[in-house]
Amino acid sequence: MALRFASLGSGSKGNGTLVASGDHCLLVDCGFTIKETERRMARLGVSPSDLSAILVTHEHSDHLSGVAPLARKYKLPVYLTPGTLRARDIGKLPRLHLIEGHQPFAVADIQVTPVAVPHDAREAAQFVFRNRGGSLGLLTDLGTVTPHVEAHFGDCDALVLEANHDPQMLAQGPYPPSLKRRVGGAYGHLSNQQAAGFLQRVGCDQLQHLVVAHISEKNNSVELARAALADAADKVANCIFACQQQGFDWLDIDKRD
Ligand SMILES: [Zn+2]
Ligand SMILES: [Zn+2]
Repeated sequence: MALRFASLGSGSKGNGTLVASGDHCLLVDCGFTIKETERRMARLGVSPSDLSAILVTHEHSDHLSGVAPLARKYKLPVYLTPGTLRARDIGKLPRLHLIEGHQPFAVADIQVTPVAVPHDAREAAQFVFRNRGGSLGLLTDLGTVTPHVEAHFGDCDALVLEANHDPQMLAQGPYPPSLKRRVGGAYGHLSNQQAAGFLQRVGCDQLQHLVVAHISEKNNSVELARAALADAADKVANCIFACQQQGFDWLDIDKRD
C-alpha cells in the first residue's frame, strides 16, 4: 500500500499535512479554522470525518490553532507531547494520546517516529512516517539541523523540508530586530542555505519527492529558494515548492526496489 501525502497549506499563516495509507488518513497540525480546514480538505477529496487522528508538532498557532476545534467537532484522537499540551490552554480534547520521550507509535498501519528538533517551543517534535510501501519525513520549524535530525531524516523516500528564509531578505525585511534574531537563530527556522546544506550532507538520490515548505512570504521567495536548492532539485525525481494558499496535491511514494 503506497504512502501518500498532501498539504492544506504551508507557512506562517497556517499549516496542515495529510499522510495516508490505504483507508487511513492522518492530519499533522491544523492552523486553520474548521470551515477553512473542511474547504481545503475537500479540495484534496477528503473530509475531516475520514481522519484517523491529528498529530501536533508544536504549540505555535500556525500549527495548533485549529486542532482542538476540529478534534471536538469530529471526535478525533490527538497525539502530542506533554510539553506541547502544557504550553497552551487548548481546551478539552475528546481523545488525548501523549507522545512521551519521543517514543515511536503506530496509527493503523502507519508507523510514526517523533524526532526532537531545536525550535522555540516547549517540546517540539517533527515526524517520520513509514508503512510497508515507504517512508516520509516532515521537517519544518527548526533552527538547526542536529546530528539526531540528520540520522532520522537522512534516508527517507520523500521529504517535506523547510526553507524558511533568505538571510539577506530577513536582515533587510520588515520584522523587528528581536523577531529577526528569533527566526534566524538556532531555535528558529531553517534558511534556504541550511536546507541545501542538509540535503548535500545526506544526499538525495533516494528521494522520490522533495517538497520545499514553510517558505516565508516576507523573508523569502520561491525563486531564491529554488536557486539555493537547485543542486538538490536536479537529483530528485520530483521537486516542488509548497505554498501558503494551495499547499500541494497528493503525492504517492512508490515502494523501493
Ligand atoms: Zn510554523
Ligand atoms: Zn514554529
